[in-house]
Amino acid sequence: MSQIKFFQGDNLPLEMHKVRIVQKLNLIPVEQRMKAMSEAGNNTFLLHNRDVFLDMLTDSGVNAMSDRQLAAMMEADDSYAGSETFFRLEAKIREIFGTEFFLPAHQGRACEHIISKVFVKQDSVIPMNYHFTTTKSHITLNGGRVEEVYIDEALNITSNHPFKGNIDIRKLVELIKKEGADDIPFVRMEAGTNLIGGQPFSLENMRQVRKVCDEYGIMLILDASLLADNLYFIKQREKDCRNMSIREITRAMADLCDIIYFSARKLGCARGGAICTDKSELADKMRELVPLYEGFLTYGGMSVREMEAMAVGLKETMDEEMINQGPEFIACMAEELQKRGIPVVTPPGGLGCHIDAMGFVDHIPQTQYPAGALAAAIYIASGVRGMERGTMSEQRDENGVEPLSNMELVRLALPRRVFTLSQVMYAVDRITWLYENRKLIGGLKFIEEPRVLRFFFGRLAPTNDWQDRLVKKFREDFGDSL
Ligand SMILES: *Cc1c(COP(=O)(O)O)cnc(C)c1O
Repeated sequence: MSQIKFFQGDNLPLEMHKVRIVQKLNLIPVEQRMKAMSEAGNNTFLLHNRDVFLDMLTDSGVNAMSDRQLAAMMEADDSYAGSETFFRLEAKIREIFGTEFFLPAHQGRACEHIISKVFVKQDSVIPMNYHFTTTKSHITLNGGRVEEVYIDEALNITSNHPFKGNIDIRKLVELIKKEGADDIPFVRMEAGTNLIGGQPFSLENMRQVRKVCDEYGIMLILDASLLADNLYFIKQREKDCRNMSIREITRAMADLCDIIYFSARKLGCARGGAICTDKSELADKMRELVPLYEGFLTYGGMSVREMEAMAVGLKETMDEEMINQGPEFIACMAEELQKRGIPVVTPPGGLGCHIDAMGFVDHIPQTQYPAGALAAAIYIASGVRGMERGTMSEQRDENGVEPLSNMELVRLALPRRVFTLSQVMYAVDRITWLYENRKLIGGLKFIEEPRVLRFFFGRLAPTNDWQDRLVKKFREDFGDSL
């Protein structure tokens, strides 16, 4: 992978694409942004997109499609059963992962639903590098328990550990000995570990996990939703993989797994999901749930157009000149914020730039959701929509006790090929202003709190009038600017 070097100046990330379709953006004045935030219950998920300037909520389903993806959508073969589109996608997945069987599902969590229903039993224990929100909910709904066996470094906000998503092998073995292998249906490894800042694991770590799984007769399942960034980091940071192609690294990972699943809203830049395995007995166990919950076996709840886009998107993910686009823009944004003293997760991971809210607003107690409050403040100050990834994203245990999250992060996702460098710099500039005025930011409290996945549609209110004071200061500093 040859990076393009600049002769002068900084090593700026360079877009390896040009823009051919555009969408007009809308930036409403700060007073209206405060009102919109209030109407959305201070939950960025509940904002209307028309009120959002730069939507950095997620990369899910909003990565920019390529001309070839759009063209492929026109060729989709629409039929309930046996469409050519399905067989084209199946062939592409087989080519990339080397897996014989492909079960389609409408998105990533649907794969988790099926896998959990089949393999998770009452009191099952599922070790993993780190949980993801929907994964944990599906496992607990089926009576299982998530046990995270991350390395100690995983939760250090600032670090130079290249693979904070690694599993701690010693902790994994201890857990298996303590719980007994019979209660552990599978170990789950999440590529580009989402909730700790898009952090990768190494191929070497995966090999070691596989060895432990073999020793105890436990399956290894890969959540490959954020595989693209993890692949890039392995190639960049893992000495033994430097001379491997992205496709070779992918195959080496896939060969270690019993089951691979992913959200094609992320991997493949389309909208869908896939469960892949080379083992017929595993495919047989899961297959009958696909028509029951998703749709017939040759579409699984996806539109054939999205399936065509996914096949092309998977191929493009393997492109050595494109795979750096996400991580390099994220690294640039993180470095610019760091230069201005703003605490961010390092090393920068995939998916987005992660601001450390406990460092940014260290005067807000965790019970008042510092990351949620900061996400609301960033929207008010800039029109940029980020996502809380902290205590709000946890759910209460069976006794109603609220677990405090290990980290309080605001994630500013950079969907691939969507934002330009000047838009990234605008976000950096407004966040810098907010950092200088951080003492004005106050906490939040729930006024409506759903029991499951409360972060999606729970509503909160500021603990006092801090948002009015923030807007007043904005007007003093920015005049009549938006
Ligand atoms: C997004 C995501 C999922 C869920 O996928 P959806 O398509 O949103 O249902 C699962 N695991 C990881 C790591 C993800 O990032």
